[in-house]
Amino acid sequence: MIKANNPNLKSWAPIDKNSDFSLQNLPFGIFKTKQLTKRVGVALGDNVIDLHTLSELGYLSRLQLGEVLNQEYLNPLMKFGKLATRELRNRISELFTDSNDELKKNEHHVKQVLIPMNMVEVCLPVNIGDYTDFYSSEQHAYNVGCMFRDPDNALLPNWKHLPVAYHGRASSIIPSEQDIYRPKGQQKPDDSNPVFGNSKLLDFELEMGFITYDGKPLGESISTKEAEDYIFGMVLCNDWSARDIQKWEYIPLGPFLAKNFATSISCWVVTLDALAPFKTEGPVQEPKVLPYLEYEGNNHYDVNLEVILETPEGKQKSVSKSNYKNMYWNMNQQLAHHTVNGCNVRAGDMMASGTISGNDETSYGSMLEISWKGTKPVEMPDGTTRKFIQDNDTVIMKGHCIKNNIRVGFGEVKSKVLPAK
Ligand code: CA
Repeated sequence: MIKANNPNLKSWAPIDKNSDFSLQNLPFGIFKTKQLTKRVGVALGDNVIDLHTLSELGYLSRLQLGEVLNQEYLNPLMKFGKLATRELRNRISELFTDSNDELKKNEHHVKQVLIPMNMVEVCLPVNIGDYTDFYSSEQHAYNVGCMFRDPDNALLPNWKHLPVAYHGRASSIIPSEQDIYRPKGQQKPDDSNPVFGNSKLLDFELEMGFITYDGKPLGESISTKEAEDYIFGMVLCNDWSARDIQKWEYIPLGPFLAKNFATSISCWVVTLDALAPFKTEGPVQEPKVLPYLEYEGNNHYDVNLEVILETPEGKQKSVSKSNYKNMYWNMNQQLAHHTVNGCNVRAGDMMASGTISGNDETSYGSMLEISWKGTKPVEMPDGTTRKFIQDNDTVIMKGHCIKNNIRVGFGEVKSKVLPAK
């Protein structure tokens, strides 16, 4: 077992039992304050641990990480690879465990390294080089196939043989709390020529993304068995989608302007190490996959997911409860497929899961499915209804794992939709 995952460890620092950021989590992020420049932090309860200051005070000296904790992104830290980030997380766990008084006994140091979460601005954690978006939830692909084709041919012939994906846009990936603007673009009403205007069918997609370490050189592949060594951690991901723009533009090369105007992510990267205790079985894959996509053991993860819609006046409604274990294709298969042709991945690439829909309508991961193409409007607490997302609405996504009273969570990804510019 990874030392920091020991469920018996308790911290001397205050952590609410319902906090996503337990001692067994220790997710990495980038933060700044009025006084402090951007640097690497770890979330612990309602505090952020300032890793740069912790290092300056000498508590991390045996790890020899140099200046990577005093950077604007996590990429330089990720360059050190899996064993280094594991050792760093283990060391932080050790310093904050109640049986260890190295840091605890130096109260003036504790005051410097533990900063209340409400005093910091949490920033985009990773300088994302390349962004790939998969399409790996069977229920989502089936639902969309039913709406746009027919239930007998909902899944296209390749879907159960390979994890379908497209290359997305990295420049417009933004952190939680950053507002987005309603996109504009071409749409094609059924009964007229194409028109240009504000998207009327703006939607969210409930997804999770994984962040990679440096992979192998161009020309080499990462197997399903090796994949975990190349994955740093995960975030929640809202892959904003303009359905009316998408419907007209996507043939034959797939989504373009319907998707590249914004993708919002949660800011604390939960390591794959911290998620290890929550591994679970995946679905039976039938027909049998090709050998390079076969895998052993439990490669799926049990992560509870929720989407909340908030009206401009702040009235909230939970519109979906799903789970990451609903995926047909797991991360290891996705990464193996992505690199099987020799494509290289780099530290800080993000690969999103695709919309995570469960088997019934309470667990669908987009408004397209929840309102079934606008035919079943959602009633909000103030009596208004939603088929898609309106101006000044806020979308909040949350995610957490829980097992034997140990909670490991992602916090949230929250974004407000402003009127088109
Ligand atoms: Ca997507």
